[in-house]
This record gives sequence, structure tokens and C-alpha cells, in this order.
Amino acid sequence: MKITIRHPLVFGLCAVAVALVARQAASPVAEAREPSNASIRSNLARQDQDPQAYVQYLANAGVLVVNGNTKIAFDPIFRSSFGSYLLLSDELERNLFAGTAPFDGLDAVFISHYHGDHFSARDVMRLMAAHADLELFAPAQAVEALHAVARSNKDQDSSAVFERVRTITLDYEQAPVAIETDSLLVEAVRIPHSGWPERMQNVENIAFRVSLTGADDSIVTAAHLGDADTRDEHYDHDADYWAKRPLNLALPPYWYLQSEDGRAILSNRLKPALTMGLHVPVKFSAKDKAAVTSDRVGVMTQPLERRSLQ
Ligand SMILES: [Zn+2]
Repeated sequence: MKITIRHPLVFGLCAVAVALVARQAASPVAEAREPSNASIRSNLARQDQDPQAYVQYLANAGVLVVNGNTKIAFDPIFRSSFGSYLLLSDELERNLFAGTAPFDGLDAVFISHYHGDHFSARDVMRLMAAHADLELFAPAQAVEALHAVARSNKDQDSSAVFERVRTITLDYEQAPVAIETDSLLVEAVRIPHSGWPERMQNVENIAFRVSLTGADDSIVTAAHLGDADTRDEHYDHDADYWAKRPLNLALPPYWYLQSEDGRAILSNRLKPALTMGLHVPVKFSAKDKAAVTSDRVGVMTQPLERRSLQ
């Protein structure tokens, strides 16, 4: 697979083209909202039930984002619930390793940070070894943990796995990076972990912004923020980066929806068409949920629940 890394300034030149493609792809759907005959209406009904582009919840901060044949997973496998968060169900875990639905055709896995409620090094190594085409994008701290697992598996050669691992090495306030593959544009910037600056300063929490190319070259762009802190200064530092690409989907931790600062970042910086809060504690009540839910904003709490991105 061809990988090119571009300097973000150079990359900015391509942003306009990508945005134009996204707008062109969106217009036929908008026009089709007033169908002229019954067959178009029934096609549209099917499309709503089985959208080409959607986000699907797994557990905690784990989701699939799909655009046609392009499918990625954020933070899919981890072992620590800390007594508060959903773990991936046994059935979904079996399907993940077997590569069966909903994980069939998975192209890439993204790790926001190495914490145990987002990432299990042993399981990610096993997953990468089981799927010879799967790519991994992860911060250096998580990749270090993968190397430690590889060293402990002395009888296995892990070199083929690490050829498919893209290590994101970013300091705080360092310029965002971009990596392009056949079907993905991956952009990454370090946003400090919640608790900053008193705690968690050393945690490499990566906010990924991924554009997935689907059928007819349509593009869906989703941003997953990991356990990002809600201070605006982290986003103000790269204001142009955040402004340059329209987001179909923002996936912040749920505390963004409960905090004025977090909501302001979503409405002033990220401006997504749809926001789905993740990392929701199991004790989150229906009242808590109602308080953060509106037409284009919600939280994901039920495994396999799905929202269309069309
Ligand atoms: Zn964390």
C-alpha cells in the first residue's frame, strides 16, 4: 500500500479539492430527498435502513466508521473497564478476531492513547497478526507497548506486523501530521488528555481526523478525540487545521457535551454535521442522556447502535 507523508502546509493545498469532492458527493443525496416516483422512494427507504456511510458503536470509546467499502475502527479492543465503562462483548470480540460482521473488510485500526480502557497491546498484536492487510495508526507510547509484547513472544516473528504499523509521534503543540493511503486520509494532532495540566501531561492522546473514500469517490470525514481535554487553547493553536476540512462526524468523549468549553469547541472549531459522544459510563442515566441530546448531537451507549452519516 502506498503511503505518503506530507507536510501539513503542503497538504493544505489539497484540502480545498477534498472539500469540493465532498460537496459534490453530497448534492445528489440532497436532491433525492424529494423522490418523483415510488421506486426511488423505496430505494431511499432501503438506503436509510442500510446506509452506505455510518458510525456504529462497539464499547466505551470504540466505534466503527464506514463509508461504502472503507471501514475503520477507533479504540476497538481493551481490557479495563475501571468499574465504569463497557467492555467489548465476548461475541463482538470473537467477531473482531475472526474478521466477521460487523468487522468484515476492516481496513485500519486507530488507537487514541495507550490507556487500558482504550487499548490492549497484547490483543492489538494478536489482531494485527491475524489480519495480514490490517493497518494500525497509534501513538508512539502504544507502539512501544506493542514492541514489548513482541519481545515477550520470542518464538514469533512480528516484523510483518510492524510494517503495517504507522507510529504517530507528536509533542504537544507540534504541527498536525497527515498520512495518505489508498482509501484514507489520516490527519493527527496531539490534544492533551483530560486532567491536563495537573495530571496526564505525559499521555500521548491523539485526535485523529480521518477522511474515508467510499463509493463514487464520496468522502466522509470523522474526528475521534480520545480522552481530550476541553480547553480551547489546544484547538486555537491549530485553528486553521481545524477549520479547513468539513466534518461529517465528531466523536468527542461525553464530557465535551456536559461542559460549556467542550460544546464551544464543537460549535466553533469542529463544526461537525453530527456529534456522537463516547466513553459514557454505564451509570449514565436516561436523564443525563436527555440533557446532552439534541437533533444532531447524542451519545452512543448500546453496542451495535448505528447512526447514518448521509
Ligand atoms: Zn485515558
